Amino acid sequence: MSFPHWLGSSLALSVFSLSLFAQQPTIPQEQKETAIKLMDSALKSKLGFNIVESLTTEVGPRLGGSEAEARARDWGLKLGNELGFDKVSIEEFTMPFWDRGHLDVVLNTPYKQELSATALGGAAPSEREIKAPIVYFRNIHALAEAKDGVLKGKIAFVDGDMMVKSQTGAGYGQANQRRRVGWQHAQRAGAKALMVRSVGSSSHRFPHTGMMSQHDNNWAEIPVVAISNPDADQLRRLHNLGESLTVSLHSDSKWKGEVSSGNVILDLIGSEKPEEIVLIGGHLDSWDLGTGAVDDGAGIGITVAAAALISKLPKRPKRTIRVVMFGAEEVGLLGAFAYAKQHEGNLHNHVIATESDFGAQTIWQLVSDVNDDATVLIDEIGKIISPLGIVRGGSDVAGGGPDIIPMQQKGVPTIRLNQNGRDYFDLHHTPDDTLDKIEPDELAQNIAAYAATIYLIADSDVDLKQ
Ligand code: ZN
Ligand code: ZN
Repeated sequence: MSFPHWLGSSLALSVFSLSLFAQQPTIPQEQKETAIKLMDSALKSKLGFNIVESLTTEVGPRLGGSEAEARARDWGLKLGNELGFDKVSIEEFTMPFWDRGHLDVVLNTPYKQELSATALGGAAPSEREIKAPIVYFRNIHALAEAKDGVLKGKIAFVDGDMMVKSQTGAGYGQANQRRRVGWQHAQRAGAKALMVRSVGSSSHRFPHTGMMSQHDNNWAEIPVVAISNPDADQLRRLHNLGESLTVSLHSDSKWKGEVSSGNVILDLIGSEKPEEIVLIGGHLDSWDLGTGAVDDGAGIGITVAAAALISKLPKRPKRTIRVVMFGAEEVGLLGAFAYAKQHEGNLHNHVIATESDFGAQTIWQLVSDVNDDATVLIDEIGKIISPLGIVRGGSDVAGGGPDIIPMQQKGVPTIRLNQNGRDYFDLHHTPDDTLDKIEPDELAQNIAAYAATIYLIADSDVDLKQ
């Protein structure tokens, strides 16, 4: 591993960068110096990594609505109290629970081979083993054209292309269509089940799970599974050789009724404007195949550690800093919608919201969606955190992260510290999402950026609303 260029040199570079905007009065010198100190202490701290280690080891996998997710909430409360947050609470909501159950998928013809597969979220059980021929579709568009009833007695397999690794994760939304809506076409065409190529960039033999979309408020009535990229390659090659393929599939994944979930809220109460909220967070739930280290234990570790470092300052920033550990994100942003609903009357007091949910590699870009005056403030913050290797991106980029969407739709301003996502879709939603994939120094760079950025916004008087 090469030595990260942002380590060890942050203070000197920060002092240099400060001189670049000495004319601009928005951020007082004292606050700039505090932000630099926060960055330096974050780069030396192991707190964020220790938090992810504790969550992934002591709680483990934590599917939305499961008993494990409830243990994670207890873990979050205890952590918030131990770290000295001013107010720590759980806001509950109810949700339908989908259980993965057990799955077997075996290629029977032209030869026997077990396939590396996993059910997609929301899939129906097979009741008994299904043995059927495969009908191959090159991509989701080909499947969408299948006429009603033509797949009767068959299992549809929708192929596609493996995602290309990239910093931004470009291509995920498009590739994800086969996972999200493939079942609607397969079911309409009469298929007994649907297999899809995993949505991910990993060439390892891990299937990538994920949630499907509802159609007219209904979930799939057929089993739907993702198979690993190498297995999808194998099926494609066999198909191209003209072989007829048959598969047996047995799945008992199913919906199991209403359960409780919740968001864990950790507040550092503002010293001058406690009603104004600077919201950061990640999601506490994970898929159940790995231990949810990069998705999204990292986001929890980064945001909790950043706020905890700010809590060690001699005085609380003017505004309240709120860390939300969102529940049930993977299964449909349920905690995010519950939060936006429960705080509907108070969203005008949320001065900014942002989430960390794109892994644990370093942050490379700061984007924002705030008013023009506030853009000057965010530009200045961009200069202060630039020694961490972060560039200033667009000033009208709506977003903030998946769990921020419901708030952003209701007018809450957002920023986002974009992480390098090059390895993200290798690990995303697979059994390989485990703690060993996180580089502690890279996680610390994230915490440094969050601590400085959030502190500076929380200690500012600037209104950020559009
Ligand atoms: Zn996530
Ligand atoms: Zn996820």
